[in-house]
Amino acid sequence: MVRVGGVVRAALATLGILSTVAGVAEARQTPRGGAVEYDYLIRGGTVVDGTGSPGYRADVAIRGDRIARVSRDPIDAARARVVLDARGMVVAPGFIDMHAHVESLARRPLAELFLRQGVTTVVYAPDGGMPWPLGAYIDTLRAIGHAPNIAFFAGHNRIRQEVMGTENRAPTAAELERMKAMVAQAMEEGAIGLSTGLRYVPGIYSETGEVIELAKVAARYGGIYASHIRDEGAGVFDAVAELIRVAREAGLPAQLSHHKLMGQPQWGQSVRTLAMVDSARAAGLDVTIDQYPYTATSTGTGVLFPAWALAGGTAALKERLADPAQRARIVEGIKETILEERGGGDLARIQLARVGFRREWEGKTFADIARERGREPDLDFAAELAIEIQTQGGASGVWHVVDEGDLRRILVHPWTMVASDGGLDGLGEGHPHPRGYGTFARVLGRYVREEGVLTLEEAIRKMTSLPAWRIGQPERGRIAEGLIADLVVFDPAKIADRATFVEPHHFAIGVSHVLVAGEPVIRSGSLTGSKPGRVLRRETVRAGAD
Ligand SMILES: [Zn+2]
Repeated sequence: MVRVGGVVRAALATLGILSTVAGVAEARQTPRGGAVEYDYLIRGGTVVDGTGSPGYRADVAIRGDRIARVSRDPIDAARARVVLDARGMVVAPGFIDMHAHVESLARRPLAELFLRQGVTTVVYAPDGGMPWPLGAYIDTLRAIGHAPNIAFFAGHNRIRQEVMGTENRAPTAAELERMKAMVAQAMEEGAIGLSTGLRYVPGIYSETGEVIELAKVAARYGGIYASHIRDEGAGVFDAVAELIRVAREAGLPAQLSHHKLMGQPQWGQSVRTLAMVDSARAAGLDVTIDQYPYTATSTGTGVLFPAWALAGGTAALKERLADPAQRARIVEGIKETILEERGGGDLARIQLARVGFRREWEGKTFADIARERGREPDLDFAAELAIEIQTQGGASGVWHVVDEGDLRRILVHPWTMVASDGGLDGLGEGHPHPRGYGTFARVLGRYVREEGVLTLEEAIRKMTSLPAWRIGQPERGRIAEGLIADLVVFDPAKIADRATFVEPHHFAIGVSHVLVAGEPVIRSGSLTGSKPGRVLRRETVRAGAD
C-alpha cells in the first residue's frame, strides 16, 4: 500500500476512497462532513505505556506518524478516520527485538513472524555479522521497503574477514587501522554500535585488545558494544569479564547478548554472572543484558563429536570409527561433551528434531530410544546412538542445556531486555529454533500470564522503553503524546507462542493490531502488506562526537 500523509488520508477518507483501498470492516466514513482530527483511534484498551507504570484504560489517537492523544476519557469515534477496536486488549509500544538475524529482510520485507509477535523494530547484524558496505545495503533495503523498523550494528567478524580473511593471528598495525576505518565508515553510514561474535570464526581469533580498539571507534560516535561472548559454557565468567573490560577500556555501554549458561556444571551460576554485571554497574559502567526465553538451543548432532572426527565428512568418520583406537577416542569425546556441555548425564535432555533417515524419531529423546530398545539410558548408549545417527548423515537436535532457574533469574534482572536471536525464516522452510516465531509472545503468555514470573508492565518495559533507550530512540518505546506511533494491540488472555522445537513453523497468536510509524502492518489479525519501517540511527549522539 502506498504511504499517504495524514491530510491526504483524511481527504481520501472523506471521499470514501481510502476505506475502499483498505477494504476492512472497521474503516469509518466521516459523518456529515465533520472534522476528522485523527487517522486512527485505538479505542477501549488498557494502555501499558512501556515505562513499567501500571496499565490504565485509555483511548489512543494517532495523526500521521505520531501519537496525537492519550485520553482516559473516551474519544469520540467520529473524530477518527479509522477506529481500531481494543476492548479487552492491551495497547503497548511496539516491541523492539535487540538481537534479530534478519539477513533475509530484503527477500521477506514484511517479516511476518516478527510482526505477529508485536515486534515493530529489529536490531540487526548481531554476533559480528554485517552486510558490507553497510551504506549500500541500507540504500537497497530502503528502495525495497520493509514493515518493521531496523537498526544496524557494525559487525566485527565481517570487518575482520574483509581485512584478514580467516587468519588465526593478531592484526598488523596497518590491518588494525583498516578495521578501525571500516568501523568508522559503518558508524557514519548509520550503525548504532559494534557487535562481536567471539565464539565464531574469525572473531574467535581476536584478542581483547583488538576489540577494545574497534569499540573505541564506535564510542566516538556515541555507539554501544554488543557481544555474543567468547564462551557460554565452562568459560562464561572469563567471557563476561572480557565484555566488562571492553566497556571500561573503550568507554561505552556494553550489551551481553542472549545471556545463558550452557551445560550442567554451570547451572545456577547466573547468580555469579549477574553479580558481575551488578558490580560493573555499581562501578559506573553501563552494562545491560538481553535474553531469549527458552531453555534449549538448537543445532546438529555433529556438535557431540570432536571436531577432528568430522573433518572430511561421513565417509571419513566411518573410516576413523573402523579403527578401534580412534573409535575409543571418539566415544570418549562424545561422552565428555554430553557431560560438560550438553545436559550432563540425563539423556532426556537430548531431543531429535529433524531426522531425515528416520522420521519416527523426530521429537524423541535419547532416553526414549533407550527405553524402546530395552537399554540403560547411560553415556555408553548415548555415544553408540550418536554414532549410529552421525554415520547416517546426522540429524538436527534440540539441546535442553539451559537451567530454567537461570533463565528466570536472568529474565527478572532489571537490566535484562527480551530479544529473540531468531532468524527470518520462510514459513515451512528448514528447521529453525522456535525463538524466531515465539519469543515475545512466550514471555507474555508463559512467563507473565501462566507463571507470574514478571508483571505485564515489567515484561513490556523489557520489550520497549529499555531497548529503545539502549539503541538511542527517545521517541520510541513509550506511549505518550507526541512520540512516534509504533504500537501493538494484543489480548493478554490469549497471547502465546505456538512454535515448538519439533514443529517450529507456527506464528504466535493473540496480536490484533500492529502499527509502525502510525500505519497498520497488522490490522484485525491480518497482514496489511504496508512497509512503513524506517532505518533507525542513534539520536543521542554524545557531545563532541564527529
Ligand atoms: Zn549469538
